[in-house]
Formats: sequence, C-alpha cells, structure tokens
Amino acid sequence: MSEWKRAVIAAGKRMLAEGVTIGAWGNISVRDEAGRVCITPSGMAYGTLTEDDIVVLAPDGTRLEGERKPSIETGLHLAVYAARPDCRAIVHTHPVYSTAFSAMGEDIPLFLDEAAQQLGDTVRTAEYALPGTPELAENCVRALGPRSMACLLRSHGAVCLGETLDQAFLVSQVLESTARIYGLIRSMGGAFLPLSQEDIRAMQEFVKNEYGQR
Ligand SMILES: [Zn+2]
Repeated sequence: MSEWKRAVIAAGKRMLAEGVTIGAWGNISVRDEAGRVCITPSGMAYGTLTEDDIVVLAPDGTRLEGERKPSIETGLHLAVYAARPDCRAIVHTHPVYSTAFSAMGEDIPLFLDEAAQQLGDTVRTAEYALPGTPELAENCVRALGPRSMACLLRSHGAVCLGETLDQAFLVSQVLESTARIYGLIRSMGGAFLPLSQEDIRAMQEFVKNEYGQR
C-alpha cells in the first residue's frame, strides 16, 4: 500500500499549497483495485504526515493498517465509494467560493464548457448535517447522485471525486473556478446563459473518448 499512502500524503501537501483548505481541515482518500481505502488521519497537519499516519480500511471500515484515528469523515468516504464504483479518489476541501455557495444552500449549474466537461452534472448542495455523522454521508451520496463528480456540503465545503487523485483535484479546481465566475456574474447583476443538455452531453462524450493524446 506504500505507493497509495505516498499519493495521499502528496495530495495533502498539494491541498495546503493550493489554499483550498486551512490547517488540518479537509480530508483525502484513494481506493485501490482490491477496494482497500487509504485515508488521511483525523486532525493532523498535512505537512508532517508519514506513511505510518495513513490509515488503510476495508470497504466495510475494518482497519487493515495504521494506528491513527482516521478522518472524522471516513464514513462519508466509504459511503461514496459504495455508491459510486466509478470513483477511486475523493478530495474534501473548503475552497472559498464553492463554500460560499454551500452556505447559501445553492446548486452550481453546468453553465461553462469546462464545468460541463469535468463536473458530470449540476453540483448540488447536500442538506445540512453535522460533520462526521452518518446523516452527512447519506446527504452527500444523495446530492452526488449517479453522475456528478462533486457536491457541496451545506455551510461546510466541497466533496470532489475522480478516477485518480489528479482527476479529483482537477474537479476541485474546475468547481472552484466555476463558483468564482458564478459569483462574479451575480455581483455584476447578470445571469448566465444555460448550455443545452445536448451540448453538455456532446462535450462529455468528447472528453471521455477523444480528447488529449490517446
Ligand atoms: Zn470539512
């Protein structure tokens, strides 16, 4: 599991460097081919984590490796993995603009090309529940639905999914930039023009099948 643990540690440092969370907030996990989940420990500074600090869990939450108390949102990560077989990595952050929309209980629609390409579906805000509770995990899974790669936790932050950690980070960056532009449009007193469902689907197909150096 060493390689996976190192990836989680690197992602923690990246999360701090990108300014999408403060202190020890937020959490990160990856799932390997066998379904084992590597997750960050609860309340430890990201800059100091070593492989021994990363907790490895079976899909049902049974501890396989590590002595630390795992992230308070471990139940949420496991619930998302159970509901979304396409998801292999989860990054939970508190980015400013996305979190502002979460505090208003608003959804972020796919009104930009890059959002349509990367976010999968409207980014919905989950109903409020206290951090670390099974209710929050349930509300998060419901907000994600079968297709969205991200959701907002009301008055809290964002949950971003990916096939890889890099992909989950990309989703988190696209979500935050979309939230920022959405806020800007509204502060200008304007409204976005919606993309058609047909165009959204065409872009998603293109990214899946043709984009890049395949
Ligand atoms: Zn959080």
